[in-house]
Amino acid sequence: MKIGFIGLGIMGKPMSKNLIKAGYNLVVFDINKSAVDEVVKAGAEEGTSAKDVASKTDVIITMLPNSPQVKQVVFGENGVAEGIKKGSVLIDMSSIAPLVSREVAEKLAGKGVDMIDAPVSGGEPKAIDGTLSIMVGGKKETFEKYKDLLLKMGSSAVLCGSIGAGNVTKLANQVIVALNIAAMSEAFVLGTKAGVSPELIYNAIKGGLAGSTVLDAKAPMVLDRNFKPGFKIDLHIKDLTNAVETGAGVGAPLFLTNQVLEILRNLHLDGEGQSDHSAIIKFYEKLAKVEVTK
Ligand code: NAD
Repeated sequence: MKIGFIGLGIMGKPMSKNLIKAGYNLVVFDINKSAVDEVVKAGAEEGTSAKDVASKTDVIITMLPNSPQVKQVVFGENGVAEGIKKGSVLIDMSSIAPLVSREVAEKLAGKGVDMIDAPVSGGEPKAIDGTLSIMVGGKKETFEKYKDLLLKMGSSAVLCGSIGAGNVTKLANQVIVALNIAAMSEAFVLGTKAGVSPELIYNAIKGGLAGSTVLDAKAPMVLDRNFKPGFKIDLHIKDLTNAVETGAGVGAPLFLTNQVLEILRNLHLDGEGQSDHSAIIKFYEKLAKVEVTK
């Protein structure tokens, strides 16, 4: 099986390297040449365009920022659709709007090409370790066929429903993560203002009901004042915007999500768009005029 991999950013780079380590032959492409060079050094073949990648491979994986980039890479000039062969499959692992996954899949079906959406959770550390959680939408037989391949990048892959269901699940994940970081931020600023060390608060509560994977990942970053992404504020704005639009379409109330989305937008305007989403705390710190540290 020859694999195409398009989108070699924070996530795509380590994911593609794990496939190379697992013994797959990869043809890769990104508009960022230095990212391509790095993965080629790890053993991949360089593709000259998305079309070139698709024409040389049977399985094409995309790991791009959002819906417009996925549409561009698949249907734009020199895109996947111009090179892809009948019987190939597109595995889109980007986090995009579920409706766009369905739209792309429908168009590709007309070319005899199957598609699954398979967004991930776990961030860069789990992309490096190959222990991502992968949420999949698509046909059961397609999922079963490519499950082993997915598990070279993740420790779990769950079929959540038909095409688009992976991205609906990812939106649910992103709502829970954003609201958790906002809750942690409010609590740490409260502790700081009330004279109790946030580090002690974290150590005291992490084993109890309020403990979580989000808290364990983000509290140490805040306490170290380390806002290097990780997962960028701008990407979380993208995900919550997709969540709010999807919610409006299906009639789901998203009060808290809308509020955290406003906080994230505010941080973007403050120049924090490229910071890790743990920088949500800076919004509260600014209002309360404190800094949360060790
Ligand atoms: P990133 O911005 O680091 O990487 C995106 C890559 O896509 C870049 O290398 C960029 O050059 C490339 N790209 C953009 N347009 C392109 C085009 N037209 N043709 C070819 N390449 C193009 O983003 P990332 O953090 O790797 O995230 C990728 C996806 O994974 C996003 O949907 C994100 O929401 C999701 N995700 C990210 C994380 C995380 O912690 N970073 C975690 C889970 C899911």
